[in-house]
This record gives sequence, C-alpha cells and structure tokens, in this order.
Amino acid sequence: MQADQAAIASWIRGARAIVVLTGAGISTESGIPDFRGPNGVWTKNPAAEKTATLQHYVSDPEVRAQAWHNRVHGRYWDAEPNAGHRALADLERRAALDTLVTQNIDGLHHKAGSSPEKIVEIHGNVREVKCLSCAWRAPMEVALDRVRAGEVDPDCPECGGILKSATISFGENLVPADLARSQQAAARGDLFLAVGTTLTVYPAAGLPEYALANGARLVVLNAEPTPFDPAAGAVVREPLGEALPAIVGAV
Ligand SMILES: [Zn+2]
Repeated sequence: MQADQAAIASWIRGARAIVVLTGAGISTESGIPDFRGPNGVWTKNPAAEKTATLQHYVSDPEVRAQAWHNRVHGRYWDAEPNAGHRALADLERRAALDTLVTQNIDGLHHKAGSSPEKIVEIHGNVREVKCLSCAWRAPMEVALDRVRAGEVDPDCPECGGILKSATISFGENLVPADLARSQQAAARGDLFLAVGTTLTVYPAAGLPEYALANGARLVVLNAEPTPFDPAAGAVVREPLGEALPAIVGAV
C-alpha cells in the first residue's frame, strides 16, 4: 500500500462525519459511459446531448422517442456495481459515513449495498419515471413495459403529460431538498472524499467548498486533475477499482 493511501485510511478511521461525493469516474469501470469527458458520449456526438436537455425533450417527439429507445436498450439497466462502489458500501460499515452524495443517475451505490438513507442522488435516478406535468411517479419498468409493447412515447396515465426518467436534465432545476441536504452534510463533515468527479459541474462541485470552510480535510480521488487538488490533503490518481478497496481495506 502506498503511503498516501495509508494516510487516507487513518483519516477515515479518525473521522467523526465523512461525506463522500461521487461522479462519473466511479461508474466507468461498470461500463457506463462518461458523458462529458474528453472521450464522452456528448463530446463525440453533440446530438446525443439533446435527449438530456429538457427543452429539446419537451418540444420534440422524436427526441423523446430516441430517449425511450435508449432507455430500453441502454446499459444502465444491466450495469453492475464495481469494486469501487462495493468499497464505499464497505466504508459505511467500517467508519462514520455521514452522507454519500452522487452525481450519478445509475443507481449503482444502491445496488452495491450502500444504505438508501445515506445516499443523495443529486441529479436524480433512472430507476423511476416521472410526469413533467403532475406528481405521478412509478418504477421505470412500468414505462419500459409500455415501450416494449409498442408505444414510442408513453404518456402519463393520470394527466396525459410527458413522461421522463426521474433524472435532472440540463435546463431542469435540482430538487432543492436534495441540494440542501448535501450542502448541510458537507458543512458539518470533518472529512470529504471527492471520488471520480472532475469537480467542475456546479452545484455539486461547490460541496468541497462547504467542507473546506468548516475546516474539513479534503481527499481527491480522480484520474484527472481537479480545481480542488491544491486544497486537498491527498490526491489519488490510481484507478478507483483498485485504490478504494485498498484504502477502505486498511481502515
Ligand atoms: Zn401527469
């Protein structure tokens, strides 16, 4: 084990309130594409970004048909958590995890066994479908079954409104309660782990600022440099599927 990983393990052991923020980097080893990175889906194919932009989704039935096709055939539905997700679930059993905030919509922290009450999915999730006009929500399978049965753009059974995965699209506001919960956790924690996130997409990227303002120690685990590296007590560049199990295993 490397010296910095041993140090991080000791910080985790000594912390009284750990806040973890995860981004796309933790799920790439599960085969889920990075959307915004240098080799990201949207970087290579800007048209694909339309399906995730609320304005296009609402105004263009063809964008919705494409989005439903993607949901039926996409990787989110059969992806499995990797060693990094499992290490974070393990962390909760070994140390004082306060909150696990994720920018990911893939639900893999749930699948890996992290406690649902500890998780804040700040960009929503793909496990549920929601109506954009009323409060109707249901498990995503309910809508996918209708698409598999031949509907190209299933509508809301309550009001006829447009249905969408319960994710936060571009142009859509975050859920205020989720954001507040994340900020409050960051502000009371004494150790903040930023995992697989470039820390450039706000407001999630602002969470380390709350932690640092409270005097918390910051650890960045990401393959690429982040704007917060100079403020971090340690920076880990190794693949998360190797580094996280090594660190958590030493707690
Ligand atoms: Zn509705």
